[in-house]
Amino acid sequence: MSNKNRIRAINRIVERPADSVFEAKPATIDYYGIDVFNEDSMRKYLAKDTAEKLLATINKGVTLDASIAGDVAHAMKEWAVDRGATHYTHWFQPLTYGTAEKHDSFVSPVSHGRAIMAFSGKNLVVGEPDASSFPSGGIRSTFEARGYTAWDPTSPAFIKRHANGATLCIPTAFCSYRGEVLDKKTPLLRSMQALKESIVRLMRCFGVPEETPGITLGAEQEYFLIDEAFYLQRPDLVQTGRTLFGAPPPKHQQLEDHYFGSIKPRILKFMTEVEVDLWKLGIPAKTRHNEVAPAQFEIAPMFEDLNMAVDHNMLVMETLRQVAERNGLVCLMHEKPFAGVNGSGKHNNWSISYGKRNLLDPGTDPEQNMIFLTVLSAIIRGVDLHADLLRSTSCSIGNDLRLGSSEAPPSVISIFLGDQLEGIIDQIVKEGASNGSKKPGTLRVGVNTLPPLPLDATDRNRTSPFAFTGNKFEFRAPGSSMSCAAPNTFLNTIVADSLDFISEKLEKAPEKDFQKTVQSTLRDIVVKHRRIIFNGNGYSDEWVAEAEKRGLPNLKTTPEALKPLLDADNQKLVAKYGVFSKVEMDSRYEVFLYDYHRRLRIEGEIALEIATSMVRPVAQNDFARLSAALAEATSTGIKEGLSGLRVATKSAGARLDRLTEVCDKLKAAVAAEKYEDIIKDMEALRAVVDELEHEVDDQEWPLPKYREMLFIY
Ligand code: ADP
Ligand code: MG
Repeated sequence: MSNKNRIRAINRIVERPADSVFEAKPATIDYYGIDVFNEDSMRKYLAKDTAEKLLATINKGVTLDASIAGDVAHAMKEWAVDRGATHYTHWFQPLTYGTAEKHDSFVSPVSHGRAIMAFSGKNLVVGEPDASSFPSGGIRSTFEARGYTAWDPTSPAFIKRHANGATLCIPTAFCSYRGEVLDKKTPLLRSMQALKESIVRLMRCFGVPEETPGITLGAEQEYFLIDEAFYLQRPDLVQTGRTLFGAPPPKHQQLEDHYFGSIKPRILKFMTEVEVDLWKLGIPAKTRHNEVAPAQFEIAPMFEDLNMAVDHNMLVMETLRQVAERNGLVCLMHEKPFAGVNGSGKHNNWSISYGKRNLLDPGTDPEQNMIFLTVLSAIIRGVDLHADLLRSTSCSIGNDLRLGSSEAPPSVISIFLGDQLEGIIDQIVKEGASNGSKKPGTLRVGVNTLPPLPLDATDRNRTSPFAFTGNKFEFRAPGSSMSCAAPNTFLNTIVADSLDFISEKLEKAPEKDFQKTVQSTLRDIVVKHRRIIFNGNGYSDEWVAEAEKRGLPNLKTTPEALKPLLDADNQKLVAKYGVFSKVEMDSRYEVFLYDYHRRLRIEGEIALEIATSMVRPVAQNDFARLSAALAEATSTGIKEGLSGLRVATKSAGARLDRLTEVCDKLKAAVAAEKYEDIIKDMEALRAVVDELEHEVDDQEWPLPKYREMLFIY
């Protein structure tokens, strides 16, 4: 009986001892940020002037005074050791899906078999991990194994704990011997610098007093949780993060009863543990809820400075995985772990600020209105000119399955503004045309003639990949397992370029013509780039057809969506802002395409193994059992039941034949590395296997079923 394991898994869940119910006691969060080397710890462990210098770098972007590195290292070590750390690591984000760390202990032998805990300025500032086995797309060959990690003081050091110890983690950037980037953080930092400079330049045009520019991110994270006992019986989940087989059960998400539903105690216990761990790391976990698909959930933080938010999201994913494990659960971050129900995304809420002013806040006074509309137009221009580049940041083998299906935005990039803003855009176009009739001196960029914008000017549209949501843009295409670094790197760069495009015009305008120039510039932009705005239903087929008419790119698969990285205009743009050199863009293309192909091959191989070693024996037994029964029934001479048996035996035989046939095809496609065929053949194989799941004796089925994994926990 092959389903013994399935039954054991269910029993294990049923027999879990009940968790005791929380006894009310006053809640505290005095542990918030306790495992981060934050401003408080800096002030406690560093001399006053050193702390001030470090804080100036962190808060105001002042170049780090190299002479303080030794003192900072010492203070960081003292703090970490006080918090139980024995090791430190440079923590970085290579071109894989995860983060990387190599631990060194603070232990440093001195004479007579004694040791002290030591950590120098050099240890803090640079690391030289043997980097030969990280993806580099040919930038760094194995004989030049060296890579460098460089301390990023703008993202605070933190402590990671495990059962019997702790490690000081220092966020770093990672580059090659010759300085080419090998990670996701360096380009992000470069793009932030570029965008911040463009913001300052634009604000200067508007005569706004000098402030600190900022870029903010709030990354909503969706995920699935299933019981570990099921997970361990699904080689596809273990190897690829998604189910390659599995028939959707009769009830999944159609009743819309999971979204925002009451959260099961086992899940709430998990969520609470996640939050406590995140709060200790100073990560502002804020929102938790059930998502649309069964067993799907979401966590969202309060938005933060972009660089920190990107690092924090990596830690959110890691914490979700680890706390799940502690709770006998597995957290699936894959974009489409289950066919037929919603996939998981990562909504990238992005905005820019100047001092305390959110530049994407429409505001209530004409000046803020005008700045808002200028920034909005810059974004419209940037996204229209480089929609393909933005799209390239959210392609992956997992996201190919998610985009364009079950409540995920399509692969066409467009902007949602809502009716009210679209009306204002109309106004800009018209106002510009009927220029002469108004009194000189009034700001006529469309808004001053309209009532002030209410704060929540926009309706919600969940079907748009890039939606204005009141005071920020929400980029919804990125997948749940991805780092937010790439989407924001390109978003920053294309917006920097468009802000500069506008500033250049405004700088040239004589003072008396300033408003006229703003108006005509915005008008020209809107007229030219309006095609990128779409307020309708992004899930509809009509939109895909309409988008094609408008000439918007529709890059459906990863190989297509990566091509924009090679595009000459795109390469010129990112080079202009010092974000990526041509070599770096080319290498990224190589790395991501190779990664995609490698993953596809793994999927093909594991699908084959499951089909031949787990499913085929069941299909064979099914056929053998039925044909034996048919032979026996025939020999008794009894007619009743014979026709039913004959039909069943025939279909069992046909299924077995089809299974063998598609397995052979898939095997050939994998061997020949014909990637499009691998995808097609895997789909065909899935159809046969899912049919078998329905038809064969439930007691024989070797893989946990959707109705078990998604509903029993
Ligand atoms: P919804 O699910 O309705 O889109 P959520 O509250 O789940 O909204 O998430 C919204 C996210 O946007 C939160 O992480 C929030 O902190 C973030 N956010 C709000 N304002 C800004 C801003 N100015 N810049 C960046 N992110 C923001
Ligand atoms: Mg949300």
